[in-house]
Amino acid sequence: MTQRPSFHFHERCLWFSTGQSALVIPVGGWMQPPAAGGHADSPEPKRRLWSLMQVSGLAAAYDMQASPPAPRAALLRIHSEDYLSRFQALSAAGGGALHPTAPFGPDAWEIACLSAGQVLGAVTEVAEGRRTRAYAVSRPSGHHCLPEMPMGFCLLANVAVAVRAAQAAGLHRIAVLDWDVHHGNGTEACFYDDPSVLTVSIHQEGCFPPGQAGAVADTGRGAGVGYNLNIPLWPGAGHESYMAAMDHIVLPALWDFAPDLLIVVNGLDANAVDPLARMLLHSDSFRAMTRKVATLAEEVSGGRLVIVQEGGYAEAYVPFCAHAVLEELAGQRTAVEDPFLDLVRQQQPGPGFQAAQLDELRRHPRWRV
Ligand code: ZN
Repeated sequence: MTQRPSFHFHERCLWFSTGQSALVIPVGGWMQPPAAGGHADSPEPKRRLWSLMQVSGLAAAYDMQASPPAPRAALLRIHSEDYLSRFQALSAAGGGALHPTAPFGPDAWEIACLSAGQVLGAVTEVAEGRRTRAYAVSRPSGHHCLPEMPMGFCLLANVAVAVRAAQAAGLHRIAVLDWDVHHGNGTEACFYDDPSVLTVSIHQEGCFPPGQAGAVADTGRGAGVGYNLNIPLWPGAGHESYMAAMDHIVLPALWDFAPDLLIVVNGLDANAVDPLARMLLHSDSFRAMTRKVATLAEEVSGGRLVIVQEGGYAEAYVPFCAHAVLEELAGQRTAVEDPFLDLVRQQQPGPGFQAAQLDELRRHPRWRV
């Protein structure tokens, strides 16, 4: 087995188009077509990460692969034929939307299958024992997508599809830790009654989906009770809150579950300058969380760890956060320094907020000292 992790990325995923929108709102009515930019889910954060990896030399630490599209049979483990057919037909007609928060342009079906394919490729490398660590860049993302309905820029449930593929390959217990700033509602829904998959989401309370999604009380259904774990944090939470949530809630839960494979949904939109959320993380926060999950995977999962990049909309900053995660995953530092780090470290919440947020976290039923 090679110890070099694999990196799964397909250039065509950068060609995914959301159609004409401004931030998250389609143009029309009171929304003017933007002069520049457009939809928040631009390809630039991921394109700039790819570019930074070439310039920093970090690309050489990875076995670079462009994986093929996910086959329909793999998608059907999560999605219905009816949903796949409707999506494929609308894509072939030039695009549209099957949910107002998930518009898409031409070729979206082909590109979404490629995006799911990158995640499937990464998980397959690990599940079939060729290496223990892999990273996938997915675009469009997947963690909001439900079996029968797209949502929140997500058109196929990329990670959920890969979980079922890993199980088909012989890994039985899978944990999915989602630290994207938005609740991982799609992944939660896919496995809500399934005790073989532990789903954990740390997110900004009430951010997306708006309202009550991602509540602490949502712990699973039927045989799955106890296998879904939500950790909502207040808007404005920063580095220390995430470290406390990881150390006292997430890591003990993962340790108890002892998964055969740990998959991290590495949304980077809890960074301090993201346009779609209000959290205060920096690259060292993502680096520290990666170190924690890598250590845990070594201890309980035979080292098997797959990290999937999904959300993250600050074009200038996401690449530095992702680069820090990738350095940790490869066990290698480059000369790259995060030019935002000092600034964001000085923007952390004050002691009053911090103490109150910690008190709230200590009331979480899964808090462990
Ligand atoms: Zn997100």
